[in-house]
Amino acid sequence: MSVTKRRIAPEFARYDGFIFDLDGTIYLGERLIPGALETVQTLRAHGRRVMFLSNKPLERRGDYARKLKRLGIPADERDVINSGYVLARYLRANYPEARVYSMGEPPLLEEYRDHGIHLLSEDEAMTGAVDIVVATFDRTLTYKKLQAAFNGLKAGARFFATNSDRTCPVEDGELPDAAGVIAFLEATTGRKVELIAGKPNPLMVEAAAEVMGLPPERCLMAGDRLETDMRMGLEAGMGAAAVLSGVSTREEAEAFARRMGEAGSRLHIIASVAALIE
Ligand SMILES: [Mg+2]
Repeated sequence: MSVTKRRIAPEFARYDGFIFDLDGTIYLGERLIPGALETVQTLRAHGRRVMFLSNKPLERRGDYARKLKRLGIPADERDVINSGYVLARYLRANYPEARVYSMGEPPLLEEYRDHGIHLLSEDEAMTGAVDIVVATFDRTLTYKKLQAAFNGLKAGARFFATNSDRTCPVEDGELPDAAGVIAFLEATTGRKVELIAGKPNPLMVEAAAEVMGLPPERCLMAGDRLETDMRMGLEAGMGAAAVLSGVSTREEAEAFARRMGEAGSRLHIIASVAALIE
């Protein structure tokens, strides 16, 4: 059946914005989830806004859009949000004058520059004259970077992070992620991280709703991780659709809905994103 003949499933037709987690929801590694393309096309054909989320601060939004396109889903960078973008946006809106020291790889540092953030070098941060320190996933982490962040925090800088994932799954295993960097700085400075931009912080979906120009209650968050994707969507006041195409089972999703009490009544459990349309 052609896309225009398909329609949004009735229980999801009331949502105007659809926010999708990527891995486990739209694709698995390099393979699209069956039906994902038709779902995205049908939602768009019916005038719905579609956004994609990633917690990873390693690439820029355009890189995710290119991957989606490579797998067959038309997307450009305005359709994608990741933790680095959310944090850069948050800093610009709330701390426009702050001197920021952030670890991180070149794509994240470019994101800050594009948002006009005043970034300090390691040597500048070493002096302790820092307003905000950002811990992040960084495969180029050095002791010098840790020392610069440590000095900033010891001197009283705010303590933020892009994301708090323990590990990042890759084809042949896992990489230690931002949680390890945060833990190092917490253990050595006695400070506690104050703000995490990525999932499960609702800041991330709130940014997605803002970019779409929609109030949270008109958005649906679809994802495979209950304690991150689903908790974040529900806590932001959105509808949530737990897909069983990734890491969670129906039993886990049902138990999660019960744990969430009242908010759990806004949780839908579906086999995959293909069930958003009919
Ligand atoms: Mg996922």
